[in-house]
Amino acid sequence: AQQQAQVIAHQPAMTRDGKCMSIMANIGSVADVETAIKNGAEGVGLLRTEFLYLNRTSAPTEEEQLKVYQAIAQVLECRPFMIRTLDIGGDKPLPYVKLQPESNPFLGKRGIRFCLENQEIFKTQLRAILRASHGHQIKMMFPMIATVQEVQAAKAIFMEVQTELRQANIPFDATMQVGIMVEIPSAVAIADQLATEVDFFSIGTNDLTQYVMAADRTNSQVATLADALHPSVLRTIHQTVQAAHQAGIWVGLCGELAADPVATPILIGLGIDELSLNPQAIPMLKHVITELNVAEAEAIAQTALSLKSAQGVRTLVSARINP
Ligand code: PEP
Ligand code: MG
Repeated sequence: AQQQAQVIAHQPAMTRDGKCMSIMANIGSVADVETAIKNGAEGVGLLRTEFLYLNRTSAPTEEEQLKVYQAIAQVLECRPFMIRTLDIGGDKPLPYVKLQPESNPFLGKRGIRFCLENQEIFKTQLRAILRASHGHQIKMMFPMIATVQEVQAAKAIFMEVQTELRQANIPFDATMQVGIMVEIPSAVAIADQLATEVDFFSIGTNDLTQYVMAADRTNSQVATLADALHPSVLRTIHQTVQAAHQAGIWVGLCGELAADPVATPILIGLGIDELSLNPQAIPMLKHVITELNVAEAEAIAQTALSLKSAQGVRTLVSARINP
């Protein structure tokens, strides 16, 4: 199966009945992008930009960031490239910004909350992303969105940066798609409202699971509870996809769940348009997709939503897929 998976890795991920899924890589460095392509990634669905900011004494400059984004885009050639703006917070302190100590960093000032309060850092990144978008297929998304106002505030700053670049005659892709991570339960609850503000959603099941289940993703004592296959989490995914598609936008999923073969029929059955995952898991995922058909996946997904435990979901999928 391993060998077969390697061959399939470089072909489109098509179900038996002909539906093609976009399969992208999650990366966190320049080096990762080579691995991603070797493993059959069709592009990058999530660049975690935190690595640019950690282990240093000052924030990365616009030029430094531009070089990194361009280097990745060059390796990707014309493949799509999704950059997520900085998702940092109290759990990973930066020596060059003053952060108040927080007793609950995962519920604190992280992601877009941090960026809206540290606008110099945010604007520098947005300038670098926009400049890198000139001549490359770049999309951008904001992490940890909880409210419509946050998206609007982030977009307003993004617009300001665009105006500045225009005035300075610096080229960028004015049609760049802008989206948000859906990883906070409030965002799911208002997904219909958020969908009118953006070009796409990307569901972050790592955080979505921890917040839906109120189970810290780093605490092994509650790991059993923090299970993305729990029907409560699957229902939030379902609700998000429905809101996105009703509004005519696409929706990807970039949490660890994308790499779990048990989840694959469910995610396809729920109508997810793109999966982004760690590069090593791509060949196996593509292999799993080629064995599925959509009608079957839809039936499995519908049943999964009605079950009462993650274990029940696992049993369902293994009974239907490898009986
Ligand atoms: C997620 O939360 O699922 C996600 C993809 O982002 P991160 O793991 O970087 O928080
Ligand atoms: Mg997250």
